Amino acid sequence: MKSKFLPVVLLLLTAKINAQEQVIKKTNDIAEMEKQSREKRINNGLVSLASGNFTVHYYKCEWKINPSKNYITGKVTPHFIITGATSSLVFDLSNALRVDSVYMRKTKLLFSQASNQTLTIQLPSAYANGSMDSLSIFYQGAPIGGGFGSFVKSTHNGKPVIWTLSEPYGARDWWPCRNGLDDKADSIDIDIIHPTKYKASSNGMLVSTVLKGKNITSSFRHRYPIASYLVALAVTNFSTFTDSVQLGNKKMPVISNIYPEDSATFHSTIYMTLNALQLYNNKFTQYPFVNERYGQTQFGWGGGMEHQTNSFITSNGENLVTHELAHQWFGDKITCGSWQDIWLNEGFATYCADFLYPENNNVAQYKQNVKSDLDYIVSAPYGSVKVDDTTNTNRIFDGRLSYDKGAFLLRMLRFTMTDSAFFKGIRDYLGDPLLQYNFARTADLQRNLEAASGLNLTYFFNQWYAGQGYPSFTVQWSQNATNQANITISQTTSHASVSFFQVPLQLKFKNATQEKTILVQHTVNNQLDIEDIGFKADTVLIDPDNYLISKNNKSIKLASVKTVADLNISVAPNPFTDRINVTLQDKAAGKKVMLQLFDNAGQSVATNTGTTTGSRSSYMLATPRNLSPGNYVLRVTVDGKTTIHNVIKK
Ligand SMILES: [Zn+2]
Repeated sequence: MKSKFLPVVLLLLTAKINAQEQVIKKTNDIAEMEKQSREKRINNGLVSLASGNFTVHYYKCEWKINPSKNYITGKVTPHFIITGATSSLVFDLSNALRVDSVYMRKTKLLFSQASNQTLTIQLPSAYANGSMDSLSIFYQGAPIGGGFGSFVKSTHNGKPVIWTLSEPYGARDWWPCRNGLDDKADSIDIDIIHPTKYKASSNGMLVSTVLKGKNITSSFRHRYPIASYLVALAVTNFSTFTDSVQLGNKKMPVISNIYPEDSATFHSTIYMTLNALQLYNNKFTQYPFVNERYGQTQFGWGGGMEHQTNSFITSNGENLVTHELAHQWFGDKITCGSWQDIWLNEGFATYCADFLYPENNNVAQYKQNVKSDLDYIVSAPYGSVKVDDTTNTNRIFDGRLSYDKGAFLLRMLRFTMTDSAFFKGIRDYLGDPLLQYNFARTADLQRNLEAASGLNLTYFFNQWYAGQGYPSFTVQWSQNATNQANITISQTTSHASVSFFQVPLQLKFKNATQEKTILVQHTVNNQLDIEDIGFKADTVLIDPDNYLISKNNKSIKLASVKTVADLNISVAPNPFTDRINVTLQDKAAGKKVMLQLFDNAGQSVATNTGTTTGSRSSYMLATPRNLSPGNYVLRVTVDGKTTIHNVIKK
């Protein structure tokens, strides 16, 4: 789903869209967020209340829809498997809809509806674990849309339209189902009965249209696992156009249902969808529903929604159509296993839409998108990708956190892991037998990325997924006569949940004619690094290509380091055992002295500070007893001037 990167013209023209945008950005205000969350909890617990004693492996749905009227008449037949012995089943269903009857074959079953949006059905007898059966629920009513609409009657160009958008909790607003993120039906059949002057659009393949009096029954068949929130319908006077795309050795139809007034415009840009289908198919894994089709259906909500095999979109902007397409892999084939992990849907789709630009040789646009995403992410010093309140729809779909910061996590992972390991890890994730056509949590992605890279990424997910905020780097540097750079990297963090961000950090040394970029594994605060630059730099740029989330970085050039001889410093003994003595020839009073000992990884292992008194000349640095023998670097700073000494522990 996507609502925030709307074309500017649409934002100006459509007050409703603007309102949506406002709602999402407003969540940056903690007080507002907490207020909304409390209200939501009071209104209704936004969770699936379907009982855990069954799963549904197949739904047969028959829906009668006339877009002129906000009304649905339905018969839904779930085929279920009992997972815990029981004599009753609880489905999610809005109590705005009236259930007329429930039948199991010819037996009428007892049922009750409750104000917590549930339908409880008494089975004719106790069912043992593992038993399978089906029943049919007959219902009707005027749906009350929630969330992002769920069931909406509207108009376009004076013509009536009904469309659905059930994410995250809205499926129960118009059909009885299991509404949670714990059950995908293996397949679904959908019959939509509608007036002859309209067309219907839904999931999977349209296999027949049968005329019956003033109505047509449009029958859709879908033979892949599907979550309830990804089931959708739309009915209006659609224009249909069909294209095809070659995916490996398979030619697949791409079927679009667009409002007649916009059909030519949408068709003129369908190549963007076809190109992206091929690119994602080649880069990640085969299009997940290749035996059926992909399609787009126009609707009136301000954005797009990745209904399985059939994305609903408001416009034909490239970023929107590629975002919704990417969801077919990330969101539909593998669905987030909790709304806490929505970034597995939205972060990926946002990343994939941006990622197409350099693949299509539009690097400038890509850099611009990355920069604007970054600016938005760091516009507040807090907020985690992990959703901390899944009862609040606006928090789940927070554009700054679930979309942009989620996408940036993938960018940072790719940078941390290297390209080949990153894409292997993503392909392994998409093909993971435990996850494909099923649900995944963040730990499942981590497991696949770690296996592909050989890295332990726990620190990464603690910092960036669960943790909040960002680092601000300060790089102090100087160069000596042989162009060796002496670099100290320190950081502060914007939020107390992360005290230090371990990152690979790029530093670009440059002057008017030369530049050199070095990569430092920044693993500890006040880290010392020494690099041969090869020329005299005048500037150091921190993370110049925006690989990291950070803000307020400072690069400070220190006065040139004097040679050891200039400062008249002597270090003894070397090799040392447990202490190092530093002797200064300059005995002037009031100068600050700092001694720092670093190991080969740049980690500080001992420090001492003092102030010259005018009489003392010797300063002692005690070193830890358990220090391993080997090479160390001693940094001596006197009055802001630093010298570096290589020392050896015996
Ligand atoms: Zn999305």
